[in-house]
Amino acid sequence: MTYLSNDPATFAEDALAGFCELHADTVRRVSGGAVRRSRPSRPKVAVLPGGGSGHYPAFYGVIGPGLADGAVSGNLFTSPSAQDAVSVARAAHSGAGVVFSYGNYAGDVMNFGLATERLRAQGIRAENVVVTDDIASAERPAERRGIAGDFTVFKVMGAAAEEGMDLDEVVRVGRKANDATRTIGAAFAGCTFPGADAPLFTVPHGHMGLGLGIHGEPGLRDVPRPAARELAADFVRRVLAEKPAEAGDRIAVLLNGLGSVKHEELFVLWADVSRLLRESGHTLVLPEVGELVTSLDMAGVSLTVTWLDDELERLWTAPAWTPAFRRGAIAADSGEEAVAEVTDDGPRFAEASAESRQLAGAVLDGLRAVRKALREAEPELGAIDAVAGDGDHGRGMVRGVDAAVTAAEAAWHQGAGAGDVLAAAGDEWAARAGGTSGVLWGAGLRAAGEVIGDGVIDAVAAVDAFAERVMALGGAEPGDKTLVDALVPFRERLASGTWAQAAAAAEDAARATADLVPRKGRARPLAERSVGTPDPGAVSLALIARTVSEYLREGTR
Ligand code: ADP
Ligand code: MG
Repeated sequence: MTYLSNDPATFAEDALAGFCELHADTVRRVSGGAVRRSRPSRPKVAVLPGGGSGHYPAFYGVIGPGLADGAVSGNLFTSPSAQDAVSVARAAHSGAGVVFSYGNYAGDVMNFGLATERLRAQGIRAENVVVTDDIASAERPAERRGIAGDFTVFKVMGAAAEEGMDLDEVVRVGRKANDATRTIGAAFAGCTFPGADAPLFTVPHGHMGLGLGIHGEPGLRDVPRPAARELAADFVRRVLAEKPAEAGDRIAVLLNGLGSVKHEELFVLWADVSRLLRESGHTLVLPEVGELVTSLDMAGVSLTVTWLDDELERLWTAPAWTPAFRRGAIAADSGEEAVAEVTDDGPRFAEASAESRQLAGAVLDGLRAVRKALREAEPELGAIDAVAGDGDHGRGMVRGVDAAVTAAEAAWHQGAGAGDVLAAAGDEWAARAGGTSGVLWGAGLRAAGEVIGDGVIDAVAAVDAFAERVMALGGAEPGDKTLVDALVPFRERLASGTWAQAAAAAEDAARATADLVPRKGRARPLAERSVGTPDPGAVSLALIARTVSEYLREGTR
């Protein structure tokens, strides 16, 4: 249960504001998250953890010397936008590059990936370290999600950056720490969103969800809740079974509470966990017991082990001083105050030719036509998504296109050309839509805008750029039952035909997705239920293709 909020919709923001007020001497709020108040006196790599809110002290609780330089903070259990990540990175960057680090979740991977590209285009070196410690979430290590092991990886990278390692080195040790880290968790009761009167998920009475994820994602299975001693033995056995090849016997250990398990309970468990780890021949190096990565008020615990070599041990034991985690003694940042200007990542447009300005007006009107069509289709798109997904596709597309039109209007008024108008529209679409489709549409429109640039609109090249970006980012193939199934035939038909023919091909293909079983996205867990209903993202893509085709034919402005 979450007892206190003002407006549940602003809970995450309000919490961040309170946190930044409390720690105003060391932490400063910026658009998209928070950064250390003072900048380092000489350039150092900025280590930037991030992800959705609801996991305190992950992520902004560990901002400070020896650990994070800033944190990118999204809404509750929702990935921050690429724009959030760019904004925090620009505020934290001191000249030696930035590294984002986050758990392996589709939305985070896409948004931080996009932010990385954008920063590189702005001349800021940017890298990513993705955490994959949860052994219960997948067989293949690269497919695993990131949970409490986030903390060890951030800690090691933070110490490395503080030592003065360069960007490549910080990334190298971060990946090494991730490769050496294993976590298993269990949940006893679900977590409840502010304003909600029921938990997000439930665990049967007297049972626990073994391996359950930090947002309630399914784990291995529900089993009767054992005594603490048996749980300790089970956790230790499962983690040690995943010991990396050639690992030594010195380990960092975290026993983590997920939000509403008391410290005393953790200590009861720790007594057995520590004994069993020692009996298995391991030496425990500065273990931690407490709340490091939580899940709102979820009742649950997890055990994380990181096998240390000399380098990782040096970085793990190095001092750190942050609001939520302190170790040893470390000098406070002595550099000058971070500048407020950096929150302003507002667009600056190159001067556009008269021709491009005229095309920009047409792009804007085309977007307005798409907005009208999506608003009309909102209920239908939502209903299709509700069959096997979460029902938000109509809402998400409308939020995205509304924001896109507003951004395109602003860009147009600032004198932007056609490509810049479309790219600005894409950025806002991705930032505001929420949901997977929003990130993909936003990124695709930006890619198309970049190809158009200040020149004439080559529709085939623009659609190619859109399609390539969407497929690279989302990783879906034709047949996975996603918008890609409408996009590929659309693109192929456009290469040799008219826009109207291509739109018809997209509509046929979208209808045909009804026969497919989803292999990507949120509909996957309920795959069978989706058969007989077309894919919502494919349907909205075909609708947009049709709308643009009609707009072009009518040629009205
Ligand atoms: P969410 O799935 O996050 O709730 P939406 O409901 O807005 O987001 O969008 C769902 C649509 O997104 C799906 O119907 C599918 O077309 C598309 N989609 C999901 N994952 C992918 C992916 N990896 N690649 C391409 N499209 C995807
Ligand atoms: Mg959805």
